[in-house]
Amino acid sequence: MIISTGTASGKSLAYLTPAVAACLDGGTVLYLTPTKALAADQLRGLRELRITQVRAACFDGDTPFEERTWVRQHANYVLTNPDMLHRGVLPRHAQWSSFFRRLRMVVVDECHGYRGVFGSHVAQILRRLRRVCARYGSRPTFVLASATASEPGVFAMRLTGLEMDEVTTDASPKGSTTIALWEPPLTDLRGEGGAPVRRTATAETADLLADLVLANVRTLAFVRSRRGAETVALSARAKLADVAFSVTAPWAPQATPDSAPWPPHDAPDATGPEADVTGGEIQDPRHSTPPSPLTWAIPDDAQDLAGLPDKVAAYRAGYLAEDRRLLEKALRAGTLMGLATTNALELGVDVSGLDAVLIAGWPGTRASLWQQAGRAGRDGQDALAVLIARDDPLDTYLVHHPQALFGRPVEAIVLDPDNPYVLGPHLCAAAAEIPLTDDDLPVFGTTTPDVLEDLVARNLLRRRPAGWFWTRRERATDLADIRGGGGAPIQVVESSTGRLLGSVDEPSAHTTVHTGAVYIHQGETFLVETLDLDAGVALVEAANPDYSTFARDITDISILATQRSRPLGPGTLHFGEVEVTRQVVSYLKRRLQSGEMLGDEPLDLPPRTLRTRAVWWTLPATAVAPLAAADIDLGGAAHAAEHASIGLLPLFATCDRWDIGGVSTELHADTGLLTVFVYDGHEGGAGFAERGYARATDWLTATREAIASCECERGCPSCIQSPKCGNGNEPLHKRGALQLLDILLAPGAPS
Ligand SMILES: [Zn+2]
Ligand SMILES: [Zn+2]
Repeated sequence: MIISTGTASGKSLAYLTPAVAACLDGGTVLYLTPTKALAADQLRGLRELRITQVRAACFDGDTPFEERTWVRQHANYVLTNPDMLHRGVLPRHAQWSSFFRRLRMVVVDECHGYRGVFGSHVAQILRRLRRVCARYGSRPTFVLASATASEPGVFAMRLTGLEMDEVTTDASPKGSTTIALWEPPLTDLRGEGGAPVRRTATAETADLLADLVLANVRTLAFVRSRRGAETVALSARAKLADVAFSVTAPWAPQATPDSAPWPPHDAPDATGPEADVTGGEIQDPRHSTPPSPLTWAIPDDAQDLAGLPDKVAAYRAGYLAEDRRLLEKALRAGTLMGLATTNALELGVDVSGLDAVLIAGWPGTRASLWQQAGRAGRDGQDALAVLIARDDPLDTYLVHHPQALFGRPVEAIVLDPDNPYVLGPHLCAAAAEIPLTDDDLPVFGTTTPDVLEDLVARNLLRRRPAGWFWTRRERATDLADIRGGGGAPIQVVESSTGRLLGSVDEPSAHTTVHTGAVYIHQGETFLVETLDLDAGVALVEAANPDYSTFARDITDISILATQRSRPLGPGTLHFGEVEVTRQVVSYLKRRLQSGEMLGDEPLDLPPRTLRTRAVWWTLPATAVAPLAAADIDLGGAAHAAEHASIGLLPLFATCDRWDIGGVSTELHADTGLLTVFVYDGHEGGAGFAERGYARATDWLTATREAIASCECERGCPSCIQSPKCGNGNEPLHKRGALQLLDILLAPGAPS
C-alpha cells in the first residue's frame, strides 16, 4: 500500500498504528528512510509513546558496534536506510534470522526521494529484501509513505515489484493558501554575451522576508544552499536594522502604523540590484528620500524596534535536538518571526505554526513546491506562499504559466530498475546473499536473463546446475554505488583536518569537485583546492566565496541503437542508446547576490565516455530551408532550443537539469540532419530521456513558451543561456529557436 498525501496529513500515524500493533503481537517492523536524521527523529517519537513492548532502535552507520548485536537480537522495530540495508543487513541476513522470520511490515518513508538512478538502486535492494524474507518464511506488508505524486501506485509497483493499493485522499483540515509567483526584475548588469542579468532570487527573498516580519507574519524562507539561507537572513536583518534605526532616531520620518494594507507595496524595491543585500551598514536616514517603503507597518510600540533584527534567523542542518526544540519554541512564541533555511528543515523541525512560506527558486518538482508551501497555515488558518523565480528557463516558464502549476497533478516519480548498470551489481549482491535460481528471475525483472549472461561472461558470477553463484573474494555489495552513477568514487577530504566529508561518483566529480569548484556539503560551503583523479581524492577547505561555480563541458554524441521513433511535425522523434563523450573544459564563476558573471576559468580534465539513453529530434533540410533563406543561424537556433529544452524537461520527469545533458547540431554525422539530443547523464540511463520521448509535444511546447515568455531580446540565463554550456553560450539564436520549435510543433502535422 502507498499513502501519497500532503504535508502534515497524518501519514506517520497511518503506518505507526499497524506497526506498533505488529510489535505488540510478537512481530517485527523494518522502517526505511533516506536519511539518518529522519530515522533519529522517528526513533525519538516512538520512544515518547512509552510502549515498553516496542523495542525500537536505529541501525545505521552511526550505531556503535557494541550495540549492533543487541539491535539484531532484541529490537523489534528497526530504523535504517537503504545504504545500510544494502551493505550491512542483507549481506549478513543469517545474523538477522530471528528478525526476518517475524518480519510483518516494511515501512518505506519519504519514498518520493527514490527516483532516478538512486531510486532504481533502492528498487533492487527492496527486491533483494523480499527474497531474503522469503528465505525465512515471512511475507511482510509493504507500506510506503510519499509526498503527493502522480500515479503513486504505478511508482510504488516499480519500486517494490509488488502490486500496490494507493491512498491519495487527504481529509485533514486545512485553510486556503494564496500562492504568489514572483519574477525579479532585470537589472542594468550585463552578463555573458551582453545579456541582461536578473535581480537574484535571494535578494528578492530577503526583501520579502523583512517585509513580512515587519507585518508580523510568521515566515519561513526556503533557500537552496545554507550559504544562500544565511545571506537571506543577514540581508533581512540588515533591512530591519535600517527600519529600526530610521524610526527610533530623532530625525526619523513619522511612522504610519497599520495604515497600509497587505501587501506592503506593489512596486518592486527600487534600490537596485545590490544595494540592499551587500551592505549591512546603516545609512544615515536623512539622505534616504523617500523614506523606506518598509515604514508602512511599524508597530505602535517603538520600544520593540531595537529588537527587530533579532526576529530573523538562519537554520542549519545538524542542529542538536535541543536546539531545534528551542527554535520551535521561539517561533511559536513569536520571539522569532522569520527563518531562512535550506531544505534540511524538512528533516527535524516542527514548524507547522507559520503564516507564510517564501520559496527562493523552483524547488524542482510540483510535489516539493506543494510540500514546502504546505508548511504555511497554522490550525487550519489561511496562509501565503510565494515562489520567487531564479534566472532559469524553467522558473521563467512557471511564473508566466501558472496553469502549469495549478489544477494539475504533480509529477510522476520516474525510475528505471531495469537499467543493466544498476541491475547487474544487485544480482551479484543477491547471489552472494543466497545463490540465484531460475525461480528468482521474475523478481528482478524481464532483463535479468540477459544481464546474468553478461555477468557470467565477465566472470563475476558462476553458472552451476543449481543456479548462479558469487565465488569471488571481494564483497559483492561493493559493486553497487547506490548514491552515485558508477565508477570508483572520489573521496572529498577537508585538507586542514583530514576529515572525510563524503564521496562523489567519478563522473560527477568532473563537474562538482573540479579544482576551484565551490562545493556544498550538507549546506556548508567548501572550495576545492585540488582534484586528483588518480588518487581518487578531492581536497577541500571551508570557505565563504561570494560566487558560485558551474562546470562547462563540450560533448560529442553518437547513436548506438534507435529503439523507438515516431513522426513529430515534419520531423522525427527518436529514443535509443547513445554513446556520449564529455569533457569538462572550464568553469564559470557567478557572483551570488547579483548573478554577475566573474569569469570563465579553464580546466584540464580527461574526456569521459558514457553509454546512456537519449531522446532526439531531427528536421529535414526542406523544413528548415525557410530559416536558412532568412539568414538565421541554424546551429544557434538548434543550440538555443537544446538549452531551453534541458531546462524544461524536469517539469515532466522528476530530474534535475544537472541529471541530463544535450547536444545540438545543424548536421549530425549519424542522422545527416539538423538534430537536437537530450540524454540521461547516468550510465545506462535513468528514465528521464524516455519520459521526454513520451511527453515530447508537451515538453517542447513548454520549451517554446519559456523562450517566448522571456522579456530579454537576444537570450539570457532565464531562457536560452545555460550555465553549463561548454561553448560559452555561443552561438545562440533566440528568434531562430522559436521558429524551429514552431516548425516542429506545427498544428495539423502528425505528432
Ligand atoms: Zn531571456
Ligand atoms: Zn551549449
